[in-house]
Amino acid sequence: MQVRCYNCHKPFAMNKQAIYEALEIVTSEELNHYNAYCPHCRRANRISMDELRRWAPEWGSETSTEEKTDE
Ligand SMILES: [Zn+2]
Repeated sequence: MQVRCYNCHKPFAMNKQAIYEALEIVTSEELNHYNAYCPHCRRANRISMDELRRWAPEWGSETSTEEKTDE
């Protein structure tokens, strides 16, 4: 998943884990977008919920985020 920074126009990658985290933040805080910080210039890039969903269409389809118990 490549994000192109609106500020410096350099692409940077967001992995699945980062996208899932973003979706969780956006959902729990009832935001419309997520701020993805560019590693090059440190500016926040707004990524809409729709875009996050498109990248992780399977997210939220199952509510079974299995809780792992540390043993
Ligand atoms: Zn940038």
